[in-house]
Amino acid sequence: MSDTIIDRCVAKGLRMTDQRRTIAAVLEESDDHPDVDELYARASARDPHISLATVYRTVKLFEESGILEKVDFGDGRARYEDAEREHHDHLIDLKTGDVIEFVDPEIEALQEKIAAKLGYRLTGHKMELYGVPLKKR
Ligand SMILES: [Zn+2]
Repeated sequence: MSDTIIDRCVAKGLRMTDQRRTIAAVLEESDDHPDVDELYARASARDPHISLATVYRTVKLFEESGILEKVDFGDGRARYEDAEREHHDHLIDLKTGDVIEFVDPEIEALQEKIAAKLGYRLTGHKMELYGVPLKKR
């Protein structure tokens, strides 16, 4: 995938205002999982005229268009990441809120095996692990 978020918005026929472009650019440069407040902080640093409501509406539009994926790390806040990112799972550090991304081939294979056993072909999955750091010895 080489298309930027803006490219994909245009390809999907979304009307790209300057503010939407700014928000899309902020998303493009984010490799974490920002919520709307965080996106608003980043976007308004570039364009002070952007409102929180605009960020909300834009993020919702991008999500409905399949450009963003909503992720939920158990604290009731909707966070977002680029829907085209390579598949990965998340481990959430409950002490710090840090989110560690990982892919484990054994888990991937096991999930497909379970689905097949239940009579399904897997088309996707979401997994969030929650934990606290092990005590250092
Ligand atoms: Zn992620």
